[in-house]
Amino acid sequence: MDEIERVKEALDKEGIQVIAQVAPALRVTIGELFGFPPGTVLTKKLVGALKALGIEKVFDTSLAADVVTVEEGTEFIHRLEKNQNLPLFTSCCPASVAFVENKHKQHVNHFCAVKSPQQTMGALIKSYYSEKMNLSHEKFFVVSIMPCVVKKIEAKRPEMDFNGIHHVDAVLTTIELAKLLKEKGIELKDAEEKEFDRLLGDAAGGGQLFGVTGGVSESLLRFVSNKLDPEKKKVEFTELRGSEGRREMELEIAGKKLKIAIVHGLHNLNDLIEDEKKFSSFQVIEMMACPGGCIGGGGQPVSTPEIREKRIQGLRSVDAKETVKISSDSKEVQELYKTYLDEPGSKKARELLHTVHICLEKCD
Ligand code: SF4
Repeated sequence: MDEIERVKEALDKEGIQVIAQVAPALRVTIGELFGFPPGTVLTKKLVGALKALGIEKVFDTSLAADVVTVEEGTEFIHRLEKNQNLPLFTSCCPASVAFVENKHKQHVNHFCAVKSPQQTMGALIKSYYSEKMNLSHEKFFVVSIMPCVVKKIEAKRPEMDFNGIHHVDAVLTTIELAKLLKEKGIELKDAEEKEFDRLLGDAAGGGQLFGVTGGVSESLLRFVSNKLDPEKKKVEFTELRGSEGRREMELEIAGKKLKIAIVHGLHNLNDLIEDEKKFSSFQVIEMMACPGGCIGGGGQPVSTPEIREKRIQGLRSVDAKETVKISSDSKEVQELYKTYLDEPGSKKARELLHTVHICLEKCD
């Protein structure tokens, strides 16, 4: 049974709550499949359309991206202090992860241990939210709306489960969601505008940037800079922005020089890893498989460089309007740690939100 049919079946099943999470990139791409110009921000229409399908709660994956930033940033600071496992590989991209696991298995320890935002949100729904609602996790069917076909594989990886609980039950791409909405006669332009439901509350700007190349690093560096140099409150890292397939820059944070590489396209990643001397000179490498990051993903409407640029500008305009720019400044992320996860890297956070990266062939 394909995943659209599985979602339809769950929506018809008595006693099951279907919960959706929506990746940041969707809000600036789904409109193209309904006649809107590329880059139009349609967050509220998208939430309204999902509710019209019968989905009970619609959460923003950007919230989980903020939690990922806090976990990853904490691990990065620790690695910097110990000068260990650098460069840090930062990525929410399962295709890049699988590429390294397959082709450069000697480098899997460069990944941060934290799961991707999709898996983090799924884990929080089936633990934190299910406990908050006093309902068994079995009563929830979690569907992720993603820009990506590889997220379907990620959701099925056994390393993502916790205590045998599968966190994401189905993944629909942007194109599949549009197909389902059209089949049900739901037009995006006519959908009622609705706000995301609150699992933790509003996302910070940083989490919204996960959909574009350079965005994961910008979110990470906002957190790290604020942690190491709180006086400065630096939130703009324009040096990280751009659309070239490989960008390199040097920044200074709290007196430390950091060399950062941002790559999209697996051939660019491969070239960088194979240039051993250069590779080991970086402290952070961000990697995304698709051109421009998730806004150019394989589950998105077909794009050109011009269209992708408009999508990037759309997502950056969302970030520009956010008043909370640093993930750890989000009141709800703070609340989550206070009431549930304890502190970044705690036993609970590691059990629930961290994973292992494996060598797909035997590790040397
Ligand atoms: S960059 Fe492409 S493959 Fe990677 S998570 Fe985004 S959409 Fe998926």
